[in-house]
Formats: sequence, C-alpha cells, structure tokens
Amino acid sequence: MYDLIKLPYQYNALEPNIDEKTVLIHYERHHRGYLNNLNRLLEEVGYKGNYTLLELVQNIDEFPMNKRDDILFNVGGVLNHNLYWLSMSSEKNIIPNGKLKEAIDNEYGSFENFKNEFIRLANLLKGSGYTFLVVNREDKLEIINTPNQETPYVYGLTPIMALDLWEHAYYLSYQNRRSDYINNFFNIVNFKEIGKLYEEAIQKK
Ligand code: MN
Repeated sequence: MYDLIKLPYQYNALEPNIDEKTVLIHYERHHRGYLNNLNRLLEEVGYKGNYTLLELVQNIDEFPMNKRDDILFNVGGVLNHNLYWLSMSSEKNIIPNGKLKEAIDNEYGSFENFKNEFIRLANLLKGSGYTFLVVNREDKLEIINTPNQETPYVYGLTPIMALDLWEHAYYLSYQNRRSDYINNFFNIVNFKEIGKLYEEAIQKK
C-alpha cells in the first residue's frame, strides 16, 4: 500500500497564482483518488511486492495484461502529482542557479528563452495532460507534453518539473483562461527543488 506524499506547503501557499480551494480539492480528492485507485488495483491483482512507484512503471509487464493500463494510469497520476506539487513553492520568483542554470543556458541560451519555450509548448497541449521538463538519456534537458497521466518514465526520461494542465488544476480561478494559469505558474516554480532533482538525475547515470 502506498501513501500520499505530504503537501510541502499550506493549501493557501500558492495564492494568488493558484487559489486555496483549487489546491485543497486537487490534492485531497484528485491526487488522493489516483493513490486510492492504485492501491485498490494492486490489491485486486494480489500484489505483495515492495516496488517503488517508479519500479511499478518499469516492471508493468509483470502485471496481468487486462490491468496494466489502469495500473499505469493511476501510478502515473500519483507520480505526476507528486512532482507537480514539488515543482512549486510559496516563495515567489525563484530563478535557477548552479548546474541547472548552466544546463538551461547551454540548451536554451537563457532562462528567458527556456521559460518562453516551456510556455509555448504548454499552450500547445490539447485536452488533458502535462508539460514536463525532463532529463533525457544523454543527460540533456528537454521539454515535452504527455497526454492524460502518462509519465515520462515510460520513455526512459526523468521528469524534474511538472505543470498539470488538466482543467481541475486551474478551472475554479481561471475558467477558460488556461494561458494565464500557465504564465502565473512561473511566478511560483521552485527552481531550488528542480535544481536538486536535476543533479540527482544526472548523478544516477
Ligand atoms: Mn491534477
């Protein structure tokens, strides 16, 4: 049985960029919902192992064929939300430094270019899904969109920053103004945490 990660801040910590009620419902109902579904599915298939969430993704072919899609959808839902919450902070306008800054400058020329490219791609996503900053197999940064709850780990990519673009992430405050939500996300991105995740990702290889 897996547990829900603790939210790293109060429900109102992301105001005014993301309102308190949205964070509460998103964490307590949506995120918890994926976790509960995952635990129920694993119980249904008699799973007794102790894989990490990532190992569940990597070993999904050990599970019955007719349950794999459901398990992967819900484990993706848990992992993606874990990273989404960690990608933000109550501290405003943190900018990248250290190795992450170097990597961003190498890949995109400047932080401003990186930010514009992330926002451009996020605006291109159709339907429900995420925009991720990932570290690829060559240790390079890439920005990708994935549909629904697909995790970049299924492609061997290590996600280090996530933007949830499902309507439940923004609709109470922003309604149809998704691009405002995307822009405002950058006011609260936790580049300290993302810098740590970046360094872990390149050390693992
Ligand atoms: Mn969500």
